Amino acid sequence: MNVRTQDVQGPSGRAKAKPALLAVEDARARILAALPVMPTETVKLSDAVGRVLAEDVVAAVSHPPAPVSAMDGYACRSADVASVPARLRRIGVSKAGSRFAGQLLAGTYVRIFTGAAVPDGADVIVLQEDASEAGDQVEIAEAPKAGRHIRATGSDFAAGEICVAKGRTLTARDVAVAAACGHDRVAVRRKPRIAILSTGDELVEVGRACGPDNIHASNGVALAAAVALWGGEPIELGIAPDQIDDIAAALDRAAGADLVVTTGGASVGDHDLVQAALQTRGFVTAFWKIAMRPGKPLMFGRLSARRLGAMPVLTMPGNPVSAQVCALLFLRPAMRAMLGLAETEPRFVRARLASPMPENDRREDYVRAQLATDASGGLVAKPYPRQDSSMGLVLAQADGLIRRAPLAPPARDGDEVDVIHFDACGGF
Ligand code: AMP
Ligand code: MG
Repeated sequence: MNVRTQDVQGPSGRAKAKPALLAVEDARARILAALPVMPTETVKLSDAVGRVLAEDVVAAVSHPPAPVSAMDGYACRSADVASVPARLRRIGVSKAGSRFAGQLLAGTYVRIFTGAAVPDGADVIVLQEDASEAGDQVEIAEAPKAGRHIRATGSDFAAGEICVAKGRTLTARDVAVAAACGHDRVAVRRKPRIAILSTGDELVEVGRACGPDNIHASNGVALAAAVALWGGEPIELGIAPDQIDDIAAALDRAAGADLVVTTGGASVGDHDLVQAALQTRGFVTAFWKIAMRPGKPLMFGRLSARRLGAMPVLTMPGNPVSAQVCALLFLRPAMRAMLGLAETEPRFVRARLASPMPENDRREDYVRAQLATDASGGLVAKPYPRQDSSMGLVLAQADGLIRRAPLAPPARDGDEVDVIHFDACGGF
């Protein structure tokens, strides 16, 4: 979908053409297409949770490795317990880790415990609760059918079976299965290294005192946190003042990163110098300005191949909400693509509006909202009345974003809208 050049009324009353802005999904597609999938590396299983598996985990062993008992009880021949009560003679014990090596003959049983190998000749386990043992004799009051309480070899998984498929973000449960399969290391995608640079004369490092003209550089911390949550390695380049040379020098410190993200200085003000600084490093712009609110000044391109290895750069506006919403809508999908994950696009669900919304202009609008469930289980979205993109607290308190399509007509109470629920955004 492209938002074309639109006729708008200029101050003189004459129609004046505004340039077309790139649609959000086209911008995302261009970023994703330009980024490589990360190479693989091998990590210890104990470090693998949250990483994206790059090669299938194939079972090196079967589990269980032999038929084993699922219960504490008595391993018997079903023929011997076909009619109860039945009295049998004990010939040994099978414990988990040390089996009874002999053969079960007619009229005998082996005392057995959970996880122990079932002796040859036995084909049923009588539960401890269903029998009484005295000395080397047991009297069986109740016997299950042949095969009961015996776990067959490989009934969980068999040697050679794919137990965790590549492309999956490893959970603690996956790690458990990989361990049971016999692996202490797994192949995963290298974490994308995302260099983060904050720009602005007014910015002060978080933790330092602010003067009357300062604010804390919260974007850098926010983006580093998001990058780590989404499976990347943040490289914090700190703060550069609004000076071309300082910004360019900071970019040089990003050498070796897979992607550079900047915030601030990306618009058209006199002190918006990121683009000029990028140009000193041979930047080639793929696009600048998109049909989105917040986030219009988003820019993407590459630094010179000669100086900085054709490093891709995503520049975001400085307002905290703009930067964070752009991170969710562009950086997260980009990182998911770099990690080789199948689902890269943000996930939208339907919700009903709890209050009306005005018609939208030509930019796709992302509106902070409270989300709740109504009596019938449907999702309800209530937009916050104040949507200034400097207001990070409203973003922190919101549950999600309502997406309003470009040029959407006014929406009424109860109308259906698309929302991104932050619960589905990997801890965002
Ligand atoms: P800019 O994109 O540079 O015009 O900045 C837009 C607004 O975002 C300004 O009010 C800046 O002070 C603010 N801003 C820029 N960078 C940051 C940052 N790292 N953290 C918090 N606010 C910022
Ligand atoms: Mg600025």
